[in-house]
Amino acid sequence: MEDYVTVVCPFCAASFAVEVDVTGGGDQVFISDCEVCCRPVQIHVAFDEAGEITCEVNTDV
Ligand SMILES: [Zn+2]
Repeated sequence: MEDYVTVVCPFCAASFAVEVDVTGGGDQVFISDCEVCCRPVQIHVAFDEAGEITCEVNTDV
């Protein structure tokens, strides 16, 4: 199962959707290139008990 989260690029402030494999559960960290400026963004995704997805973005890649 897959879902999308919307992240805001820390470089250019554009928001874009990133595909997340929710069956993995727990915390996931992955790198995705911004669709607008193409810079690599580190995305930390966490799932809570209610199935809500929260994500943080980092430039530390
Ligand atoms: Zn960007």
